[in-house]
Amino acid sequence: MNLKILWMYHDLMDLYGDKGNIQVLKTRCERRGIDCQVDVCTIGDGLDVSGYDLIFMGGGADFEQNLIYQDLLSRREALQKALDDGAAFLLICGGYQLFGQYYKDQDGKIVEGLGFFDYYTESSDRDHRCIGNIAVQAAMDGEVFQAVGFENHGGQTKNVATPFARVLKGHGNTYDGGYEGFVTDQVLATYMHGSLLPKNPRVADLVLKRALRRRYGQVELEPLDDTLEKKARDTMLTRLGVRVED
Ligand code: GLN
Repeated sequence: MNLKILWMYHDLMDLYGDKGNIQVLKTRCERRGIDCQVDVCTIGDGLDVSGYDLIFMGGGADFEQNLIYQDLLSRREALQKALDDGAAFLLICGGYQLFGQYYKDQDGKIVEGLGFFDYYTESSDRDHRCIGNIAVQAAMDGEVFQAVGFENHGGQTKNVATPFARVLKGHGNTYDGGYEGFVTDQVLATYMHGSLLPKNPRVADLVLKRALRRRYGQVELEPLDDTLEKKARDTMLTRLGVRVED
């Protein structure tokens, strides 16, 4: 089997170890003998972004979001094609925001999103920035599990039809709304940055299975030894005062 991953705006959208998510996907493929190709694309490079099994976009501050959004909008048709074709998407923070209706920054400037989903994001005031480690109870592809991550965003994402998780500690989509991220059967969008897949191997494998599904249908992945990864997750859950349940 082989897998084609596209990392969009690798040079601009990469905060708090987001690139670790790509490394984890690659390593977990290699350890199972799955050939994994990672391509990158950035502003103005003319790459056809359809035809990938998995599209990844990391987070970025308002500055970077402003730099890339027009280029992103110019790829709307190709991204829609990728969606229609069954590609999986993993979107973090600033990337998550730009697949919705819009992001309104602290000065009231509106950055138009791709509009693929109904959610929209408006910046909070400075006293309500969502910063720190976060623990959630997530549900994805019929599995329910605890996950941990790190968030740092002013954006408050509202009108999220299908959140990824319920917040146990931390903030998530809004300062105190109690829900985190957005999930469909193809898209996982979350505020949890680069610690997402390294500390939550279960999420990594669910994302990989989604990506492989496009060409190979439902596949079973050979289990890996995740002792260290699980320990990292459980350490953070415990530190946040959350009882480890799975
Ligand atoms: N600029 C956005 C916000 O603060 C996204 C930040 C991020 O990707 N960490 O909401």
